[in-house]
Amino acid sequence: VALRLYNTATRTKEDFVPIDPAHVRMYVCGPTVYDFAHIGNARPVIVFDVLYRLLRHLYPRVTYVRNITDVDDKINARAARDFPELPLNEAIRRVTEATNAQFQADVAALGALPPTVQPRATEHIAEMIEIIARLIARGHAYAAEGHVLFDVPSDADYGKLARRSLDEMQAGARVEVAPYKRDAMDFVLWKPSTEEEPGWDSPWGRGRPGWHIECSAMSWRHLGETFDIHGGGIDLVFPHHENEVAQTTCAFGHPRMANVWMHNGFLQVEGEKMSKSLGNFYTIRELLDDWPGDVLRLTMLKTHYRQPIDWTQRAMEESRAELDGWRRLMHGTVVGEPPAAFVEALSDDLNTAQALTVLRALAKSGDAAGLAGALALIGFDDFVAGASAGAVQNGWMPQQAPGYDTSLVERLVAERLAARKARNFAESDRLRDELAALGIQLKDGKDPATGEPVTTWEAMR
Ligand code: AMP
Ligand code: ZN
Repeated sequence: VALRLYNTATRTKEDFVPIDPAHVRMYVCGPTVYDFAHIGNARPVIVFDVLYRLLRHLYPRVTYVRNITDVDDKINARAARDFPELPLNEAIRRVTEATNAQFQADVAALGALPPTVQPRATEHIAEMIEIIARLIARGHAYAAEGHVLFDVPSDADYGKLARRSLDEMQAGARVEVAPYKRDAMDFVLWKPSTEEEPGWDSPWGRGRPGWHIECSAMSWRHLGETFDIHGGGIDLVFPHHENEVAQTTCAFGHPRMANVWMHNGFLQVEGEKMSKSLGNFYTIRELLDDWPGDVLRLTMLKTHYRQPIDWTQRAMEESRAELDGWRRLMHGTVVGEPPAAFVEALSDDLNTAQALTVLRALAKSGDAAGLAGALALIGFDDFVAGASAGAVQNGWMPQQAPGYDTSLVERLVAERLAARKARNFAESDRLRDELAALGIQLKDGKDPATGEPVTTWEAMR
């Protein structure tokens, strides 16, 4: 199967040609850990998890790096607000550790594999300083008033990734003109820290990094000077990724930082931009209180990753019903190979919408083994394991809501009772098994008043 990926750098879908076919290398910009991740943040996590799984299916070795941004002025502000009584550095540590633990738990519940490496910015300050020193030595950066700035006009390729004109970029940059900048577009690599602010010693004084330099440092350390795939949300193309490219290519002298640049489209909720003031802002955690992670994952994959996605209650309900149907079909099945048509759809620029169409056809034709293999490939492995073993597993159980659909259980219990009354014991036993597969235990008895058979039920755990 030939993998084709849309490359933001060339604005075309291209055959994917790894630098080293024995070892594919991918970097994705991760979270800034100062607050709960929202359902929009879940999109790159799920999308690039599916790509990671597909790459592992196609290639012998894949290194996937997703960083943790644990130095940022938003983190500092949060720390000062939440723990005013603590020294700032201690408060920052509390904020970033708690937020990171929360993020890891959230994305695990969405079925995302841990990346190969999850480097933290604060553990790569030495690499950042090294890159900044190289940029100064090569004439691409300059120190001024405790800051170090990237000299944008020194880089003839600046703006090529985002395809922005000089005028557009300058218009955007004028907002933050500072006296120490030679050009309005120049961006910060290093800035001074006050006594209370977090800071590290550097050749330019005690300070902290600008936002963009960390990704150049962490991708260099863990993937090398140039690697295969770089991903993130579409909002990161400019300025973040443009600046990463400028830093890395100018520091190391390669024409490219990454060969393929991939960006997911934005998520909105019920047709509107998600925002706290509109009351349509959902953290992953809140949604996991009401829905199994698999429902959220499936809902995310129904839309092709480059399209905008409209997140709705209705879509989650539909996903839940679909998963219920698949689970019943896979009861007792052996997990098969993912069918070729399914892998082909995914290999066409991660066309999960088309892959799900293939998957529905598998379900319709009763190919439970193929269905299970296909679902496992895109990260429903716990769900498949639970369904095929006939047990309701952790991966499927939501945190608080029941792991079964109550109305479905009620219906099956009623059908079974009717079968019992009709003395159709084969059907009655079949329904008992089906309910057991949902984790439901039955208790048969007689209504003491009328003598009629009755059945009560409870969840097994
Ligand atoms: P941030 O923590 O804001 O840097 O975002 C982390 C990741 O989530 C980045 O890759 C963003 O592009 C992505 N992201 C943020 N908001 C959304 C959204 N509404 N839809 C899709 N992706 C988003
Ligand atoms: Zn980045």
